[in-house]
Amino acid sequence: MIPDRAEAATHTRQDADTALACPHCGHAGVLTARYPHTWHGRTGKPIHGFKAAVLCATCDSDEAAARELIALVDSNGQVSAENTERFIHLAVFWVEHARGRELDVDALAGEEQRWRIADL
Ligand SMILES: [Zn+2]
Repeated sequence: MIPDRAEAATHTRQDADTALACPHCGHAGVLTARYPHTWHGRTGKPIHGFKAAVLCATCDSDEAAARELIALVDSNGQVSAENTERFIHLAVFWVEHARGRELDVDALAGEEQRWRIADL
């Protein structure tokens, strides 16, 4: 069963048990999007899985679409019914942008360092 749009809007709220922290700064994400991702193992066989992108009010506020998306989510993690269409449009755009980001080797090394000292 597909929920109506008002019902769908209520599902944007993140549950504290499932909300992901920003991988860059460690703050709670505004929202998390999971999307299909395929990579190849050592044998060359494709492995199908999912990746997650976390929208962060601190780290992503420089991007116009992300900033507008963040503004649509209230402090309770809700999107009003009248903003649902705009939210969906911006969320799709933001996820496509997040999927296209290239690996930042320096950022990865910094995050690994933070993980090793248990800062993440
Ligand atoms: Zn962040």
